[in-house]
Amino acid sequence: MVWKLSQSQTVERVYAAPGNPGMARCGECVAVAGSFLEVAESVHADLTVVGPELPLVAGVVDEFRAAGKLIVGPTKENAQLEGSKIFAKDFFRRYKIPTADFASVDNYEDAQKALGRFRYPVVVKSDGLAAGKGVIIAANSAEANRGVEALGPRLVIEEFLEGEEVSFIALCDGRDVLPFAPTQDHKRVNDGDTGPNTGGMGAYCDSRILTEAETERILDTIMRPTVEATGFTGFLYAGLMMTADGPKALEFNVRLGDPETQPLMHRMTTDLAPVLMAAARGELGRHRFDWRRGASVCVVLASGGYPGGYTTGATIRGVEQAEAAGATVFHAGTRKGTGGLETGGGRVLGVTASGEDLRSAIDRAYEAVSKIEFAGMHYRRDIGQKGLKRYEVGAPGARG
Ligand code: AMP
Repeated sequence: MVWKLSQSQTVERVYAAPGNPGMARCGECVAVAGSFLEVAESVHADLTVVGPELPLVAGVVDEFRAAGKLIVGPTKENAQLEGSKIFAKDFFRRYKIPTADFASVDNYEDAQKALGRFRYPVVVKSDGLAAGKGVIIAANSAEANRGVEALGPRLVIEEFLEGEEVSFIALCDGRDVLPFAPTQDHKRVNDGDTGPNTGGMGAYCDSRILTEAETERILDTIMRPTVEATGFTGFLYAGLMMTADGPKALEFNVRLGDPETQPLMHRMTTDLAPVLMAAARGELGRHRFDWRRGASVCVVLASGGYPGGYTTGATIRGVEQAEAAGATVFHAGTRKGTGGLETGGGRVLGVTASGEDLRSAIDRAYEAVSKIEFAGMHYRRDIGQKGLKRYEVGAPGARG
């Protein structure tokens, strides 16, 4: 977002709080000593856009609005759609938003009872924020019990849904819903969607992920009813399963997703800043987003061990060469060390490229990835292959 906003005709300066070395290339990083409101006031920000979920759940939007400052994000109340899975599932049920059949429990005994109601595989989810890692898909009762032990006692236990996963994100102003192009994330750590869940190992953006009819159905059955019921403001992110019975909501996030944001920003041709300003003022009206032809892809480079324990402080080499190869290298867990850029988190870089079609975007992204190295680096080699399988004529699973 910092990268995209810094290209805007209408933006004088972008600040990131606290930011990272990648953001420092296109904006100015400011330390967070007191509150975010104090930071925004100290730099005279005309508009604040919230990236991560924690400040939203803590009520940063309410605080800004009370002080009369423009901000893009949901209220503390609405942030619970992400902050609590139980809250979200109860919300889906109350407003008849299609979702997996479920039971919410807050103790081990009820968890056992609930498990008896579902067929295997069954899905066990912790109630609170878990950075994408609070979900276990259990193939049998031993695994389910281990999941309940690891994630409980406040849990959602739910039916396993089959289908293609889609990330559907929209900018909302309390009334209007402006969708982004569809994206697909890759949550599992290893190729072929195997291994444990992560915060996301890569994503691609391609308008062919959804037909127009599917998009309309998602807007009608999931997005608009949610905004109507809540007056939601900010980015509403629906993690969807496209099942044989139509789209079903797996979860809501209340912010732009990572890594979906990288390919979205890369492919978007619209000047984002005026649209965000309109959203903050409740004037989204007839704004729209436009997209470059083709597709974009982000490949996440992660630290050795991630999503388990990992070390940091490894020197990163080759970012300039990767960008010379036609990609944009977005930073996540990086920091400035004594020897230059080094790793500072689990997911380190998001190497992002666009192309005339999905295949050329994939090739360009991986060509750039091949230039980068750090000790322990790992990444998936099949980001976007799910899309190719569906679109390329004659490929298994191809449709329409
Ligand atoms: P969530 O945080 O709820 O999005 O869950 C993380 C990941 O677990 C999702 O992206 C899916 O890949 C998987 N998942 C969650 N719920 C289900 C479900 N009911 N059926 C199948 N897969 C699921």
